[in-house]
Amino acid sequence: MTKEAILYEKMPNDKTLCTACARYCEIGKDQIGLCGIRGNKDGKLELFVYGKVIAGHVDPIEKKPVIHYNPGSRIFSIATTGCNWLCKYCQNSDISQRRKVEGEDMTPEEVANTAIEYGAQGIAYTYNQPSIFIEFARDCGLAARKKGLINIFVSNGYDTPETVKMMGEFLDCITVDFKGSAEPEFTRKFIGVPDPQPIFDTLLELRDKTNIHVEITDLIVPRVGDNLEYAAKLSKFVYDEFGPEMPIHFLRFHPDYKMMDYESTPVKTLEKHYQVAKNAGLEYVYLGNVPGHPWEHTYCSQCNNIVIKRYGFDIQGWNMDENNRCKFCGNKIPITGKLQKGYQQNRFQFVC
Ligand code: SF4
Repeated sequence: MTKEAILYEKMPNDKTLCTACARYCEIGKDQIGLCGIRGNKDGKLELFVYGKVIAGHVDPIEKKPVIHYNPGSRIFSIATTGCNWLCKYCQNSDISQRRKVEGEDMTPEEVANTAIEYGAQGIAYTYNQPSIFIEFARDCGLAARKKGLINIFVSNGYDTPETVKMMGEFLDCITVDFKGSAEPEFTRKFIGVPDPQPIFDTLLELRDKTNIHVEITDLIVPRVGDNLEYAAKLSKFVYDEFGPEMPIHFLRFHPDYKMMDYESTPVKTLEKHYQVAKNAGLEYVYLGNVPGHPWEHTYCSQCNNIVIKRYGFDIQGWNMDENNRCKFCGNKIPITGKLQKGYQQNRFQFVC
């Protein structure tokens, strides 16, 4: 399936300007953009992967990671091929770096129905950068909303005002994933992104123009993407622009793809990042990919008791009342939604 894109502008000489991500590719006739799935056909920009789903899994919402929004939800997670980033450590490189149009044919209604069939409470657009296929995601999202499902983007944030505007039509939640704390040298060398500024701009655009729930993630890569100075800058930005209650997750890197010769991030390194964010005033700081670590839990910002106890993606304890107030001191915890039915039953997945 292929469909004319919406997020683009026509240019002289049958060229097109794609506005779906901050690369802003100028694409000549019969050429394709960097992501490999948007291209110029006869002076029009086409989305080649409309209705082509390369992977589908039922995951817990905590795996996105999103932990301050409808905790415990089962989420049907889908992707297409292609990506606008070229991460050398990508865990999904088989999907994201495929420059082929492949996948199972699914209409937006079929995507929404599959989510319902597997008892999911929502759909996540993830594994590759979803803004590159946003027109398809939007149609899935609108079909999903009619059935009472929520929609989540797992995004690198390398977006545009145009994509954020379209997100506002259907998205409930987004996690914006920084890598290496957005140190420009790291993004240039390991992602192929010359300037990380559009990620910060996207966050401000989301805050100012939408009501979408936002969480922030930062992948910490040992030796090359673990600079504490940049972690402090990122934490300060988050505190200054979003306040102390914005959740931030520091994730452990595991060797993958072209970075097999790097070790997993030492837990001590992650702990230093945690402290930097706490010192910046952020109250809800988490470590990810370290099952069993005490900083996976949610602590009350007033009395410091555990209000949600976790092990990996599982919720093992819940110490809040029906209004998400701390059971110990009554403090309101900034978590939207109640504890949802667990995701453990009826696991489902396909990968094309
Ligand atoms: S979505 Fe793809 S074609 Fe469009 S600007 Fe980004 S990389 Fe280029």
